[in-house]
Amino acid sequence: MASVRSSLPKLPRIVLCPRCGASVEWVETSRFRPFCSMRCKTDDFGAWESETYRVAASEEAPLSDESE
Ligand SMILES: [Zn+2]
Repeated sequence: MASVRSSLPKLPRIVLCPRCGASVEWVETSRFRPFCSMRCKTDDFGAWESETYRVAASEEAPLSDESE
């Protein structure tokens, strides 16, 4: 079905939620970008002081500023 490809609208840029890794459309309606939701956004800040994040952070490299 080659015709399907041409009928697709322009895709928004997709980013991954830094908190849970969910795909987030980088659009005006994604109010919490780059997070997928308010929950992830608030959890990310709060988690720095939590034991849970401290364990996870030991195995994760800090986010690098990768330019395209
Ligand atoms: Zn998320």
